[in-house]
Amino acid sequence: MKREKTAKNEMLTRRNFLKATGGATLAGVAAGTLLADSRKAFGATTMPEKWDREVDVVVVGAGGAGFAAAIEAAEKGAEVELLEKTPVIGGSSIICGGALCFAGTDMQKAEGIKDSNELLYEDLMKVGENKNIPALVKTYVDHQLETYEWLKKLGVNFFKLGIASGMSVPRGHYVKPGDVLKILNDKAKAGGVKLVTRTPARRLVMDEKNGKIRGVIAESRGKEVSYGAKRGVVLASGGFSLNKDLLEKFVPPMANAKVINGLGNEGDGLKMAWAYGSDIQDMPYIKATFGFTLDPKTIAEDFALIFYQGAIIVNKEGKRFVDESKSYKLVGDAALVQPGAMGFQIFDSMIREKGMSDPLGRTAGLEERGLIYSAPTLKELAEKIGVPSDTLEETVKTYNVDVEKGMDSQFGRKALVASFGKPVKIEKPPFYAFPSTAAILGTYGGILINEKTQVIDVFGDVIPGLYAAGEIIGGVHGAAYMTGTAFGKALIFGKLAGSEILR
Ligand SMILES: Cc1cc2nc3c(=O)[nH]c(=O)nc-3n(C[C@H](O)[C@H](O)[C@H](O)COP(=O)(O)OP(=O)(O)OC[C@H]3O[C@@H](n4cnc5c(N)ncnc54)[C@H](O)[C@@H]3O)c2cc1C
Repeated sequence: MKREKTAKNEMLTRRNFLKATGGATLAGVAAGTLLADSRKAFGATTMPEKWDREVDVVVVGAGGAGFAAAIEAAEKGAEVELLEKTPVIGGSSIICGGALCFAGTDMQKAEGIKDSNELLYEDLMKVGENKNIPALVKTYVDHQLETYEWLKKLGVNFFKLGIASGMSVPRGHYVKPGDVLKILNDKAKAGGVKLVTRTPARRLVMDEKNGKIRGVIAESRGKEVSYGAKRGVVLASGGFSLNKDLLEKFVPPMANAKVINGLGNEGDGLKMAWAYGSDIQDMPYIKATFGFTLDPKTIAEDFALIFYQGAIIVNKEGKRFVDESKSYKLVGDAALVQPGAMGFQIFDSMIREKGMSDPLGRTAGLEERGLIYSAPTLKELAEKIGVPSDTLEETVKTYNVDVEKGMDSQFGRKALVASFGKPVKIEKPPFYAFPSTAAILGTYGGILINEKTQVIDVFGDVIPGLYAAGEIIGGVHGAAYMTGTAFGKALIFGKLAGSEILR
């Protein structure tokens, strides 16, 4: 209560001062003015008399973003401490699907795929429905190719190219996430980064003299440990999918969706930045991704995007309910309001065969585990999955006629995915059905940063000494999401933060 009052009074003071000064920003006012002093009012955790440890840079969270930031800062000569809450490294990064979104790479050129920064930018804004922040999309675009080259130089193996959500050309560059995290961990160690696991950061510490974030208070084996950071702190603690209260606060429809995520992703960093007035972005657009098995025991592993290979999606009544070429998050929205919050991906042997060559379209493992049903006719398939057979047959018939005419009369599907590929008929037996649902894989919205990864407060001012990268930030994706841009964002913005913090 006391804190609320103080903050409100300070805001009034600040507003009055702004009037009097004609709108100067905090960055532009001298220390000791009312505006500069107002930074100190936000419930700050103050500096200890002596730090337990003091280094140049403290990075919070040992996932893709945290490692990229730590490696980069260490390479530029900084002493770096990397704090990890859980006993293991990797967060969501290490369990992800391994798609990284890059454009204009040697891999694409070798396959004759024409891509460019301009096309990537255009696609990112389109899939984000122009709700994303152009400057941050541009930052992704401007730094993506150098990050791809950096990963290759570190020894990361990109083994396959594929097309997925939001892409107008194949630009999903596939890696084995476990291998990537191992490479990053080894590189960090070799570069002198000190990784400390089982040590959650709890609060950011501010230097009251100048309003700069100067370190963190962490917890280690039940004790408080203070880490000073002479150059600043990078928050790379991932999203908040595992925090039901925060989901309820920002996106109530998602509070009960299934979640697959790194174990530490509870929004700690978001709250720590928030305590210093950080602004937030993209929260209303947090969505679940469609394409997961209904089996709760294997939901984290059993996933396929056969609809991007040509499958249609029908509900329990045997009816389509969405344009299947849309972002799998928008497809997820549509599926979650169907009976049973699910949909069947329906396809034939041709589509199945084509999907086998795509890392996200493969069905082999799912078939072996009995998660995909098959039958020689649509009628028998419908009976197996408990859908009215005459409706399913009618749905497929209408769809096939529409494909032939080149016009989807029901939902306007024009492509396999985004604007790529032409829809195909479902006609060659056997026929298949994969009962699927949507799960939250990440929160994608969060702290507002600028092009230098500096955290921005609710008044539009930089919070000095505070940087953020990875899933914790908002603004890059906007309303929906292109496959590969979340892990991509972690590595691209993480690397950038590690460099910017030393400028
Ligand atoms: C199943 C799945 C599949 C996915 N597939 C893809 C894909 O193919 N392509 C893609 O682009 N994206 C994908 N994503 C999303 C992507 O993996 C993540 O958005 C991205 O890897 C996040 O990286 P990060 O470094 O920001 O966070 P994380 O990798 O989650 O790392 C954050 C780390 O911070 C730690 N931490 C949290 N709080 C604290 C604290 N207080 N103190 C210290 N440490 C803390 C966490 O324990 C964790 O280790 C997928 C996600 C999932 C779950």
